[in-house]
Amino acid sequence: MKAFKHQNTKIIATVGPASKDFDTLLALAKAGVDVFRLNFSHGTHEDHQEVINHITRINDQHRMHIGILADLQGPKLRVGKILDNALALKEGDFVHFVNRECIGTKEAIYMSYPKFAKDVKPGERVLLDDGKLIFEVVETNEIDKVKLRVIFGGILSSNKGVNLPNTKVSLPCLTKKDLKDLDFILTQPVNWIALSFVRSPKDLKDLLKRIDAKNHPAKIIAKIEKPEAVKNIDEIIKNTNGIMIARGDLGIEVPIEQLPVIQKEIVRKCMQRARPVIVATQMMESMINSLTPSRAEVTDVANAVLDGADAVMLSGETSVGMHPVKVVEAMNRIIDEAEKNYQLMSFRPEPNKKSSTFLSDVVCFNAGRTAGEIGAKAIVGMTSSGYTAFKVSSFRPRTDICIFSDRMHMLATLNMVWGVRCFYYDKFTTTDETIQDVTDILKREGVVQPGDYVINTGSMPMHRRFMTNMLKVTLVE
Ligand code: PEP
Repeated sequence: MKAFKHQNTKIIATVGPASKDFDTLLALAKAGVDVFRLNFSHGTHEDHQEVINHITRINDQHRMHIGILADLQGPKLRVGKILDNALALKEGDFVHFVNRECIGTKEAIYMSYPKFAKDVKPGERVLLDDGKLIFEVVETNEIDKVKLRVIFGGILSSNKGVNLPNTKVSLPCLTKKDLKDLDFILTQPVNWIALSFVRSPKDLKDLLKRIDAKNHPAKIIAKIEKPEAVKNIDEIIKNTNGIMIARGDLGIEVPIEQLPVIQKEIVRKCMQRARPVIVATQMMESMINSLTPSRAEVTDVANAVLDGADAVMLSGETSVGMHPVKVVEAMNRIIDEAEKNYQLMSFRPEPNKKSSTFLSDVVCFNAGRTAGEIGAKAIVGMTSSGYTAFKVSSFRPRTDICIFSDRMHMLATLNMVWGVRCFYYDKFTTTDETIQDVTDILKREGVVQPGDYVINTGSMPMHRRFMTNMLKVTLVE
């Protein structure tokens, strides 16, 4: 199979019971999935191992570079069991949260956050079950019991999620469960590791240290789902390899009407810093059951494309939905149509004079500009660190970006990046020979044909492995 896909915006599909078998994963990959997401909030390590083995087999057998994103659950807060699995609550009722496990009634409901009573302050909001129920803190004994008033009631059932938009949560990002999951993940060929509920760059440091300690090449993604993360977004983007706009929890923790503008701002900032950015959650939600998406969902996916997102993500649609392959096919068609209208894209960055990589950035920027001016068929880059791919892509050129590397793991990592097509090449002899070789590969793959122009970026002299410092126009013979 040709390792080449027409669309620039990548598709990430979450794997679950509806998609974890080899045949469905292969059908999803052929339908256009670029990265599979393993959600560590669900499933055992054995389940994930099996899926990883399937993806590795698909890549080997079909010459693909499908990436793997492991998503750590993080400090997701939940209430415990509720008596008869239903507690009816109305406005003005009082309930109590405690930090010992019990069967929940109004008098005592277990909350999975031992320091809740210490960290919370009277007047702060507590949202339950995706914000369907709203409580307000009345008083706390600062040890183990918090009294809350029901502001907006409903039926509270067991194990529902809790969000604390106003509280400075003191829990670390990596929980005991995450550490166990990470021990497993770092034995696997995983490309991206996503950290949930990031609040500041400090949260990312611990994860990075642990990945480095195992000498694992995985890159990290900060999931933006807390108001503090939105506030600290510049510093977080600086200190991460990628961003996920996790609109599920974010839409509970910030006023939901702010989501569209937050999304646009984060995508723009990520492009400026050449960090891949994923727009996630409820993109094609109605297709969990239905054969067609809603008009609003089609528009949402198209808008993410026009914002310039690197990737759009499917969650329940492919993990538990009835039509996983059809969802990906539909998403591909929406992306395709939106990309025909890139002139509507709201923003394209330019090199930043203050950046320490300014000179190389200018070469990458002009690769796109020159390609556009002469109507080149491809921009070709060689990489081992990934820099050229991240950088050329960040300027969102209108020409295909073909990236060659001798590191298979890096190619699967780059498969999540906007517009990047990945090719394996391990010779690295002279610049002339390399350019000839990669042009031949692109000809064989049907990307270019005689008479086409290609823009080559590279580094000379080659053996010094400097940052990108060369731009060349090649006529395909
Ligand atoms: C989200 O909240 O949008 C999200 C992607 O996180 P998760 O699915 O891990 O809860």
